[in-house]
Amino acid sequence: MQVFFAGTRGAYPTLKPTSQKTGGNTNCVTVTVGEDRLIIDGGTGTENILPSDTDDTILLSHFHLDHLIGLPMFLTRKQHGACSIIKSVDASSPSTKSVLSKIFGTEFFPVPLEVIHPTLHYQDFVTSTHIGKWSITSHPLNHPGGGSGYRICHQDSDQTFTHLLDHEHGSELDQALLKFARGSSLVAWDGCYEAEIYEHVKGFGHSTWQEGIKFGDTIRSPVAISGHRFNRTDVECDQIETQLTSPHMLARDGLFVELPLD
Ligand SMILES: [Zn+2]
Ligand SMILES: [Zn+2]
Repeated sequence: MQVFFAGTRGAYPTLKPTSQKTGGNTNCVTVTVGEDRLIIDGGTGTENILPSDTDDTILLSHFHLDHLIGLPMFLTRKQHGACSIIKSVDASSPSTKSVLSKIFGTEFFPVPLEVIHPTLHYQDFVTSTHIGKWSITSHPLNHPGGGSGYRICHQDSDQTFTHLLDHEHGSELDQALLKFARGSSLVAWDGCYEAEIYEHVKGFGHSTWQEGIKFGDTIRSPVAISGHRFNRTDVECDQIETQLTSPHMLARDGLFVELPLD
């Protein structure tokens, strides 16, 4: 199983010279086993991946714009095959198709996604689904407006990747999430903030990199710190990286991880 961090920035893409090493694209991660690829989120990190010549599947964590804004351009570049957008949705919540159609092709964005790419499909599920050889289980995250963490497995691999963005620690979900993520080969964590500034941003829906490390140590799984604060500089990322002990890692745009880790 290979995990590729195509975009690791939270909230807002950044192009500053001080963030070139980490990269400035918003969330997008791919998980690949053999010929099968699953794309998680459609942030501007989609600029760092190629649409496939066959079908693409994009799994959405939630509807915040930084996780969606790359979708139109990705679909513009997609010449062949169909594209499916899938998401865990509460039975009582509006469908993914209805939410996206309120954003794209309205006063917020000129063209509907279906006009950009006519073979676009939507598939909502509640807690688990199978897509080809993938099996995906979801768990609620603590984030304004809601969000889903995903535990991802593939029939041809004994590895498990768990994606927990966007998420703020410190709620009653913490214990359940530890259980949900236990046994993961890699956990992607919302390390947007530093513990030192967290008090000022509590309730904004993001965690700290230090909480990510605690989480990984508790379940004995490697953690990749992602979802970087939009104004976290390369120097600050380097400083965080020096404080991480193996097997934890700092995700930057372009990080490629082969699982299992050595
Ligand atoms: Zn976000
Ligand atoms: Zn969000």
